Amino acid sequence: MRRHGTGRYGTGRHGSFRYGRGRPARPRAASVSRRPSASEYFPGPGAHPRHTEVPAAEPLSARERATIKADGDVVPIVQTGPTGTKLDVVFIGDGYTASQQEDFHADVRAKWAKVSAVEPYASYKSLFNVWAVDAVSRQSGVSGDPVSGTVKDTALGSAFYCDGIERLLCVDTNKVESYAKKAADPDLVIVLANSAKYGGAGYNDITSPSGYDGIATASSDHAHSDQVLVHETGHSLGKLADEYWYDEYGTYTGAEPWESNSSKLTADRLTALKKKWYRWIGRTSPDGGTVGAYEGGGYHPRGLYRPTTNSIMRTLGREFNLPGREAMIAGFHRHASVVTPLTSTDSPVRRDAKVTVEAADGIRLRWSVDGREAKQARDDTTVSPRALGVPADGRTHKLSVHATDGTAAVRDPELKFRCSATFLRGGFRADGGAGGVTGAPGCRAPSVPGPWAAVCAARGTVALQRPGAVGDRPPYPLSPPVPAVPAVPAVRTCSLPGA
Ligand SMILES: [Zn+2]
Repeated sequence: MRRHGTGRYGTGRHGSFRYGRGRPARPRAASVSRRPSASEYFPGPGAHPRHTEVPAAEPLSARERATIKADGDVVPIVQTGPTGTKLDVVFIGDGYTASQQEDFHADVRAKWAKVSAVEPYASYKSLFNVWAVDAVSRQSGVSGDPVSGTVKDTALGSAFYCDGIERLLCVDTNKVESYAKKAADPDLVIVLANSAKYGGAGYNDITSPSGYDGIATASSDHAHSDQVLVHETGHSLGKLADEYWYDEYGTYTGAEPWESNSSKLTADRLTALKKKWYRWIGRTSPDGGTVGAYEGGGYHPRGLYRPTTNSIMRTLGREFNLPGREAMIAGFHRHASVVTPLTSTDSPVRRDAKVTVEAADGIRLRWSVDGREAKQARDDTTVSPRALGVPADGRTHKLSVHATDGTAAVRDPELKFRCSATFLRGGFRADGGAGGVTGAPGCRAPSVPGPWAAVCAARGTVALQRPGAVGDRPPYPLSPPVPAVPAVPAVRTCSLPGA
């Protein structure tokens, strides 16, 4: 029984989280696809990424399942709040022996420090939890390091020279799924290979039954491998297209791409039709130059346009461009709440009570009583109904808080969260406004326009209902192919914090 780490949130004790055992069994995950996986890799630091296809992972044997079942302690690395309200980043180590798990945790901390220093991560750090899942390998290091003939017996089967490509660092994606789902709510999964050799991979067409999109791999100890991870999260969280191309792909003739940073339209047409990144056109972008529509991107040298000349979606080591940052923030808020009520719902909210919410960085709060704003409480996270003007007339009054992302990094009004948390006598009710979406138990970014309701159905429990839900999608008009993203259950339950 190894013990690691000291969770400073929610454990009630020091020691490791052990989600893998002792909690109710989940429904058996849907089987993972056996078709080949599209995989992206990086020939070198500063190089344009490339794509290839790698064979699908073999189904796990009974012995492998038993091994994984007995392994995989879940260790908190960064804790900012309950898993249901935060974007949970799950690192899984490969090529670390039983005695090297502390090294793995140190590598996770170092890697997350570098990823989260990149904008917009740096401005939204409070939205993220980070977990380490300890996968114990028999041998230290991974296959293909240092040479193609090197073979190591590791928990996840990580290997350089995948498909004959030295820098392509592949992993057994079925084993990754088995380890990742030991964490409570994996939103982003990163496999760190215990290696100083440059390499990585992005499996962008994997949709996990556990709720994450894609798997990124990177070596633990190469100075530039964090850039691989940042680029890959541009796909998995930002739903961004690659902004590089292959000359041999020629002119694009397909439908308008669904990704927010790729279009068949020139800058004038984007502006005239108010499509995609038109709000940013003409502005100076942090990756250099001015936002416009530059031909080349989405693998085609002609017929598709990208917002800037050279963002991180084209070249590692660069910044996200302005539309890319906005898309990343939208992705953060698809997984993490912008405002979370901390006031318990298991007793009535009295007139003299304190009502408290937690708000993410850069979020503006507006309180209202029966629909009228109480301006004296702007951006307050703790209020009292009496101080907001709730009269002592014995009636039920509606106390609401509305949250908006007020940062300059967001221009799309659909991402100005028009969601509210409403405190009623005897319970809590959250409503999504037009175009807004309420997540549980706080408020999240809009994904599919439509009515949402979160209703306090029982003590401490919120039932989330979204009529006609078809799954999360980017907040832009879509054209086929629709991205493979996990369907959100039409009805799910979750506990309110503090309940
Ligand atoms: Zn890419």
